[in-house]
Amino acid sequence: MARALNRPPAAAATTSAPQPATATSELRQWPCQIKLVPVNAACFGNCQLLVAADCTAFAHADVHAAYMRGKTTIIGTRRDEMNETSMFCFQCEQTAGGKGCSRVGVCGKQPDVAARQDELTAALIQLARAADGKPADVKRDELVMEGLFATVTNVNFDNARLAAMVQQIKAATQQLGGAQAFDPAKLFHGDTDVVSLRSTLLLGLRGMAAYAWHAHVLGQDDPNVTGWFYKGLRAVGADHTVDEWLGLIMEFGLTNLRCMEILDHANTGTYGHPVPTSVSTTREKGPFIVVTGHDLLDLKHLLEQTEGKGINIYTHGEMLPCHGYPELKKHAHLKGNFGTAWQNQQKEFDNLPGPVLFTTNCIMPPKTSYMDRIFTTSVVAWPGCGHIPDGPKGRKDFTPVIQKALQLGGWTTTTESKPLMTGFARTAVMGVADQVIGAIKAGAIKHIFLVGGCDGAKPGRNYYTEFAEKSPKDTLLLTLACGKYRINHLDIGKIGPFPRILDMGQCNDAYSAIQVAVALSKAFNCGVNDLPLSMILSWYEQKAVCILLTLLALGIKNIRLGPTLPAFVSPTVLNVLVEKFGIKPTTTAEADLKAILG
Ligand code: SF4
Ligand code: SF4
Repeated sequence: MARALNRPPAAAATTSAPQPATATSELRQWPCQIKLVPVNAACFGNCQLLVAADCTAFAHADVHAAYMRGKTTIIGTRRDEMNETSMFCFQCEQTAGGKGCSRVGVCGKQPDVAARQDELTAALIQLARAADGKPADVKRDELVMEGLFATVTNVNFDNARLAAMVQQIKAATQQLGGAQAFDPAKLFHGDTDVVSLRSTLLLGLRGMAAYAWHAHVLGQDDPNVTGWFYKGLRAVGADHTVDEWLGLIMEFGLTNLRCMEILDHANTGTYGHPVPTSVSTTREKGPFIVVTGHDLLDLKHLLEQTEGKGINIYTHGEMLPCHGYPELKKHAHLKGNFGTAWQNQQKEFDNLPGPVLFTTNCIMPPKTSYMDRIFTTSVVAWPGCGHIPDGPKGRKDFTPVIQKALQLGGWTTTTESKPLMTGFARTAVMGVADQVIGAIKAGAIKHIFLVGGCDGAKPGRNYYTEFAEKSPKDTLLLTLACGKYRINHLDIGKIGPFPRILDMGQCNDAYSAIQVAVALSKAFNCGVNDLPLSMILSWYEQKAVCILLTLLALGIKNIRLGPTLPAFVSPTVLNVLVEKFGIKPTTTAEADLKAILG
């Protein structure tokens, strides 16, 4: 109910009324925000109504005397004007209510940024149309990859940077002679199943763009992968039958396999094949820089630029597996790993006495306690945070990050902590393939679980910890991506010489896991689905989407997916996934283990 405010009787409303020495409020009722006012209250009966923008009180010095006197005032915020659905995004696992973020993103994405990202996507579709049949162009390819990558969850929240990208894309389209525009409003509207299929392909493309970008900065490209971005974007902007959509999605899945292969070759060709490595989590006294994200090249350049400066480098989140690469681990000041997965950054970075460099996702809204220590680079951006621009020949200048580390001084004491293991990528595992195969044949290893994928903030992800804890002692657990932090601290023993939990790397290294599965199927002369191997995956954002589509395109069945199913998968599309691929939501660790092992 509206609360009437006790005001003296109103004088005639006139802008020429004399101003009292001490200004008196002319507000006659409470609340006054449009969305909150009870419109049946007495103050709205037969009244003179003033509808004010939320900034009026600040913009006009005597708004009370000049406009409000004798009137019932209501104010409209910008979001009110945009109505309930001021944005729409359902691309990640933490989407609001499991349906879609429609007022503001759970990730912190504001409606203006969401609208800009939709505009950017529409501009990319138009560019792909304009490029149809035209010769390839590296600069244009980079724009396409960057543009898609920038819309991945927790990557770019900077409207100005996104707007600049849109302008570049539009200029590139004009250079090609233009093409029919795509209406961004059509991206997520229309028939539910079509929206679901269109979104699945688009979100897969966004994820693949991140992988392709990491490969590209290390000089690895494949024209079929790059070309598929254009094909996929044109497909997103066109109409198709359900069967055609499914065909496109499967073709995309196989293209992403090739993309992950070139990324694997880029990383291992540049930094060597990862080797099993014990990673310190001890915080050493002195200045330091924390590096998070996924970009190995940024880490390498930072290591080179900090050499001999008395600054230690710590990995965070998905950078943990970098310690396994020979060409990175040879730097003695790559000291160890700090913290856990991305969703804990606001707690872990709070008052950190050192800067943090974000090389890719996942950036969360930085708290004021550490915002001045955050640096972004590449496509990552948060308004107000320092940004390290691209440099000549791909070499960035990290001087501002280095200066910040020296200025902050780092930890004042050394704090010991338990190490973590990483580096069990495909060559490390296949190097002992004979022993693994022998152990499976002898019954020492009864089952292999791939327990991996993204971590996240929503409740329910302790499922993966419980799964590992409750898994029988004669089972081996392969893990990758930041979901590993749910299990990599567990001491669940060994099977022969192998720790029962083997960390295969970043989400970027899913190729490794696929190669191990294929190698095992060859050794046992059976299909991957016939192996004593089960995939228990967690997803959060679009890179997980493209990996999942690759696994499905390879015919991998009975994947368990959690902690919740994607909001963009409609019931009809889910039925197809269940019938064709046996995909299942995770339930409880106990029930799933029983269902798998009997
Ligand atoms: S990325 Fe996720 S949390 Fe952010 S707006 Fe989209 S669905 Fe919401
Ligand atoms: S695994 Fe997924 S959620 Fe985790 S850091 Fe990588 S992209 Fe982000």
